Amino acid sequence: MTDTPTPARKSRTRAVHAGTRRSQYGEVSEAIFLTQGFVYDTAEAAEARFVEIGPDEYIYARYGNPTVAMFEDRIAALEGAEAAFATASGMAAVNGALVSMLRAGDHVVSARALFGSCLYILEEILGRYGVEVTFVDGTDLTQWRDAIRPDTRAVFFESISNPTLEVIDIAAVSRLAHAVGALVIVDNVFATPVFQDTLGLGADVVIYSATKHIDGQGRCLGGVILGSKTFIRKTVEPYMKHTGGAMSPFNAWVMLKSLETVELRCRAQAASAQAIAEALEARAGLSRVIYPGLPSHPQHALARAQMEQGGTVIALEIEGGQAAAFRFLNALEIIIISNNLGDAKSIITHPATTTHQRLSDAQKQMLGITPGLVRLSVGLEDPDDLIADLSAALQAARQA
Ligand SMILES: *Cc1c(COP(=O)(O)O)cnc(C)c1O
Repeated sequence: MTDTPTPARKSRTRAVHAGTRRSQYGEVSEAIFLTQGFVYDTAEAAEARFVEIGPDEYIYARYGNPTVAMFEDRIAALEGAEAAFATASGMAAVNGALVSMLRAGDHVVSARALFGSCLYILEEILGRYGVEVTFVDGTDLTQWRDAIRPDTRAVFFESISNPTLEVIDIAAVSRLAHAVGALVIVDNVFATPVFQDTLGLGADVVIYSATKHIDGQGRCLGGVILGSKTFIRKTVEPYMKHTGGAMSPFNAWVMLKSLETVELRCRAQAASAQAIAEALEARAGLSRVIYPGLPSHPQHALARAQMEQGGTVIALEIEGGQAAAFRFLNALEIIIISNNLGDAKSIITHPATTTHQRLSDAQKQMLGITPGLVRLSVGLEDPDDLIADLSAALQAARQA
């Protein structure tokens, strides 16, 4: 029995009900079908299912599973996508979306401000298989216009980008890409399913690391690729089901239940992030506060036009370089030092020495990943406590 509300229902209703498949027991909380395989009544039934798989029929958990299908349907309903394929991690989703559609000789244009592992796929892996990639400053439409060619098959970017929070004009880049028939693939982790209608703005494919805001409590790895039924079923699914990047049913259950609260959590975290960014902006000891919700952000107007809130992450540049940034991190008492984001717990990261350590000094400089830059993922704690913690650590950072 499936229980999929009509698309007219509002997002918070879809987040709680969409995709539910109730078993014969009528359970309220969705079941975990922790099973790899599925039993056929007869040999003929097994044969028939391998010839053509019907709706809500399953063969093997690498291809699909009822709990995973509930997660896929619910996130698709939230995103307004025709279809979704859930993956083992965010990187399995990025790799799956790109490699399933590209062939030797294809051309891709990508923003250069990318999560380190995304950069590895675009810079290292695609080239090995004969795909040419041109990198551009994602905030500069002239560079996109110059780089997109008649043989460009896809454009790829993160908006907002990690960790310097650049905002990319999704509608404008999509128009340029669509003029040559290229697919627009957006890694939407920082904008979350909540703040931005990425497909509505013109993107064709949206990718999430569900590890971040969708889980939101730091438990499981997961990812998802969303797009048209044709792209997901004909391009992504054959690649994913034969190469093994499927999401586990247990992780799908965690992600499914977390979708019920993702909007409430993200909105509260973004409201705190806005308050913290405003409170810190003029503070001594900080040379920059980067947050799309601040009027001082270079793409603030664009952020306001395409996003409902500024997101849950703030980048801060501590005066005094790496030594001062480390003193700042070490003095924090509530905010923990780690490298995840989107968690209920506020997390601080020093990108230059951790998540983006692999980049050359020239690349770091080009992307604004300075020795003093720290990335703050704002959690669900009381924002007053977070501002007090950050203020005390800023004092400590200044006492060399
Ligand atoms: C974390 C992250 C990923 C990778 O997700 P995993 O679930 O860790 O594999 C990809 N893109 C962005 C923007 C991320 O923040």
